[in-house]
Order: sequence, then structure tokens, then C-alpha cells
Amino acid sequence: MLLDKIRITNVTKKATQSPKKHSFYKGYALFVTKTLRTPLFQRFLRWLLIKENIDKSLIEEVQIRVYPFQKKNGNNLAGKWNQRGNISIFPKSYEFYGKLKARHGNKIAHSYVKCRARATLIHEILHAKYFSDEERVRRLTKRYFTLYAKNPKTEKLKNIVSNILFKQ
Ligand SMILES: [Zn+2]
Repeated sequence: MLLDKIRITNVTKKATQSPKKHSFYKGYALFVTKTLRTPLFQRFLRWLLIKENIDKSLIEEVQIRVYPFQKKNGNNLAGKWNQRGNISIFPKSYEFYGKLKARHGNKIAHSYVKCRARATLIHEILHAKYFSDEERVRRLTKRYFTLYAKNPKTEKLKNIVSNILFKQ
């Protein structure tokens, strides 16, 4: 379904990035791609599209962007959707990830990246139906994401991840 629409874009190194950061962002993008392609999550997305009555043709492409997108207010954008059905998923910054790892350890940091990627994709898919109704999209994202995370087959979602994820 969405499997063949997920691809990594802009892999070339930005002139401003050090080799260390570049390899971090490349690894991040690969990890996100793998996460979003897992059969269990794909099955969940199929169910979500049916449940919300969203035609899959409304999703043209899911681009996993290698570098973060910084908004004017300094925050990083998690994802973007446009009316042509292109979804972009952006990473957290190298600095943010470093702090998260230092504070909570590797396992939580990894889990956070996975959860954030999934929640972002759910969020942007919902925009295909609810357009700019941001409040509704956020509410539904949280509901669907919690449903997914509650599935006994999925990894146990630690409260801490959920808190970091939805506090913004
Ligand atoms: Zn949104």
C-alpha cells in the first residue's frame, strides 16, 4: 500500500554539515524508513485509511527527508503535507537527539525516534482529509497513535516517550 510510496530524499550532504552529522542524519533517515515500512505498522495504516475513509490515491508520496526543517520560531518541523498528496517527514536535530540520549539512554532515544516518525505519518495522512483543521488532526493523531501503541504486538511504549512526543 503505502510501502512503495515511502522513499528517502535529499541524501546528498549539505555543505554546512560535518561528516559526523551527515552520517547521523543518513542513519536516522534509514531507521525511520525501516520503522514506517514494518508490516505491522503498514497494516495499521491500511486500517486507518479505511476507518477514516481516505482514498489511498490522496497520498502520492512519503518523503523521508535527511535534514531537519527549522521553522521561523526555531522549532523543528516534524512533517508536512501538501495538496498534491506529498508528505515529508523531517528528523529531529543532531543536538536534540544527543541530549535525549544523554538524559534517557539509547533505548528511549530509539523508541522516541520510532514513535515520532509513526505519529508524524499518521498526522500528515489525516491532513489529507481534514486539511488545515490542525486541532482535529492533532486530537485524532493522538488517539490513533495511542491505539497503535496499545497493540500488544508492538513494542511497549514507555510513558516517557509519549510525554516527550505530545508535550509540544
Ligand atoms: Zn498538522
